[in-house]
Amino acid sequence: MSELRFNELRGEQVVYAIDRQDRTFLPAREHCPLDPTRLGEPPTEIPFAAFQIAVFDNRFPAFQAPGGAAEVVVYTDRHDGSFATLSPQRAQALMWVWRHRYQELGARPDVEYVMIFENRGVEVGVTLHHPHGQIYGYPFVPPVATLELAADERVGGCAPCALLARELGDAQRILIERDGVVAYVPHAARWAYEAHVVMREHRASLLDCEPDELRELSQVLQALVRGYDELFERPFPYVMVVHQASTCEPADSPARRGHVHVEFYPPLRTAEKLKFLAGSEQGAGTFISDTLPEESAVALREAIARAA
Ligand SMILES: [Zn+2]
Ligand SMILES: [Zn+2]
Ligand SMILES: [Zn+2]
Repeated sequence: MSELRFNELRGEQVVYAIDRQDRTFLPAREHCPLDPTRLGEPPTEIPFAAFQIAVFDNRFPAFQAPGGAAEVVVYTDRHDGSFATLSPQRAQALMWVWRHRYQELGARPDVEYVMIFENRGVEVGVTLHHPHGQIYGYPFVPPVATLELAADERVGGCAPCALLARELGDAQRILIERDGVVAYVPHAARWAYEAHVVMREHRASLLDCEPDELRELSQVLQALVRGYDELFERPFPYVMVVHQASTCEPADSPARRGHVHVEFYPPLRTAEKLKFLAGSEQGAGTFISDTLPEESAVALREAIARAA
């Protein structure tokens, strides 16, 4: 069971999930717990000989009912590959799985905020290489979600809508532009190759999206991550998070605020150099970057085109 403590100086919760110390750390290829269970072999986490997408409770949870949720989403029963190499149909199906988990976890009284995410690469602490993501159901609204709501106040409306309009007007940092979905490097990106994928219409969550929009979202996400892998011709580590409305209010409440978008935080500055969060970032909360977002956008746009 994890323990929450409120860090007074930072005004934020810290989660102590001490059982996680024992979690599986980069097991040998033949002992992958996210593989299907093969006949005559010890069971994995998934007791089926084959599957498409599997969702189950994390065995080493940061949150657990009645104090939230932690789930694992396995994208495929094939060990090798990544989100980028899933078939378009599978990537599209994943959007529906995300939507379903947001709905189901969000309906629970102990879940106030659902965050879908993927950590990719040992550079961001991945302990299992099998293509998978995670979902946390936080029993509180976490600081980043609160900051985004404060941005709404500052711009006097929906911040993702306003920022998207600004990016489209400027056009320099746009990576992919589709009918329902746009990807761009933000004007004030904190990471060298940070990218945001935003629904063009105001949609509070995946539940509010049309089927066509979900299909396009899967296509744009895949095009972007293929471009990432192409950029330095190596698997590109990143943290990917889906931001949506908190689930404090019911899905039909007019009080619900938020705008579904996906943020990527890649730690690479160059093919070999990682960005570390050090003095200024940790001590002051101020990011110092040596790459201009406009230049990253040019490089990424070209990489996306080459990978297409
Ligand atoms: Zn595997
Ligand atoms: Zn909006
Ligand atoms: Zn966001």
